[in-house]
Amino acid sequence: MDTVIYPKLTIPATIAAGPGPGNTDERVLNAFASAGVADHMHPDVLRGMVECKEMLRAIMGTKNTYTYGVAGTGWSGLDVMFNAVMPGDTVVMFVNGTFSGLDGLTVRMKAATAEELAAAPLDPQPASVTIVNVPHGESVTADVIDAALAEHKPKWAAMAHWETGSGRTNDIAALSAACEKHRAMGLVDAVSSLGVEDFAIDDYPGIVGWASCPQKGICCLPLTYAPVSFSDRYIEALKASGTRSFVHHPILEARHWGIIDGKDAEKGTYHRTHSAYAVAAFHEALRITLQEGLAARSESYRFYESALRAALEEMGCEVTSNMTSLVVFNLPGAFAGREMELVQACRAENFGIWPTLSEPVQIRIGILNLLSTDHINTIVSRFADAAEKLGMPVDRAALDAILAKHFGETIAAE
Ligand SMILES: *Cc1c(COP(=O)(O)O)cnc(C)c1O
Repeated sequence: MDTVIYPKLTIPATIAAGPGPGNTDERVLNAFASAGVADHMHPDVLRGMVECKEMLRAIMGTKNTYTYGVAGTGWSGLDVMFNAVMPGDTVVMFVNGTFSGLDGLTVRMKAATAEELAAAPLDPQPASVTIVNVPHGESVTADVIDAALAEHKPKWAAMAHWETGSGRTNDIAALSAACEKHRAMGLVDAVSSLGVEDFAIDDYPGIVGWASCPQKGICCLPLTYAPVSFSDRYIEALKASGTRSFVHHPILEARHWGIIDGKDAEKGTYHRTHSAYAVAAFHEALRITLQEGLAARSESYRFYESALRAALEEMGCEVTSNMTSLVVFNLPGAFAGREMELVQACRAENFGIWPTLSEPVQIRIGILNLLSTDHINTIVSRFADAAEKLGMPVDRAALDAILAKHFGETIAAE
């Protein structure tokens, strides 16, 4: 066979205006690229991991000792969190979009007995798992949560905090309260909310496990570290059941971060090979988050999201999301059904917006780490260009007026 050696791969810079990954800060890229070659037991790498763990506790708002990063992306952290779910465990999983749907699949795979898994290996339907489906475009609300937990009294109850598939936020206060009331243990996919919304996980005592990702609100690179945090109750449950994973074991994976036998150690011990580059990048992303402050950052997301939303509504689009980092919408009636075409036209020009990944097809525009008037003006004008090419009427003067009013007012208020 002939061996093909391809030309060197070059990947262009794009405007990453989707649900994630976000636009990586220069400081994070520099930290990644300028780390020295050092092995995973080098003192500065181990110290960096301990510092990351401490910064992460501050960002997540927790005293949980078991708070650290899982190498990989969001699904890596989620896999660690869901590893406490064992075959036969009772689980209620709330699903209102693509990602909570995949969380549901993860839970079904882990809760399935050997027979249930063999019966449908890629899509098991264990009797012990109840999937509560909430329609696309709607949030998971207190009444739905309480009713399901009252009826099923499960060991575990899980949902996404912010469902990035449809851009809907779900009520974690209600999940926490219902878990306490019905003696369930809550597990939350906080992949899209951590680093965007200002919340402290210790304010939700019914939720025992949390998992997030590097490249959305935390603004680090994918394949660095997915933040996770587990309460003592979660760890006790896991100690009692065990789990069938070495590398993604919630207790063992914590060792390299200096969490050993439930206590902080001065430095970590070997679990697997960590990357000095990834540690340096993650460390810098956490520093940036703490320097900006979650309160200021979440306020900024609220402000810029409302400007983008107003501009899209001026173009006649119907916004159905309520997240502050992502706007999900339908085109005006006459252009319904042409969402994918518009998204593909934008993507072809390195303006990286997204469609929804499950039906119905909607457009998603995200603003992760794009928090400035310049960025929002660019996103709106690029989108308006593409919309006009599709034949949509766009009133540029009205758009300019809306953005000027929005941005002018705050400058005046400052
Ligand atoms: C992005 C996302 C995931 C998956 O994260 P990856 O980093 O792609 O592995 C899971 N859940 C939610 C809510 C997400 O937004």
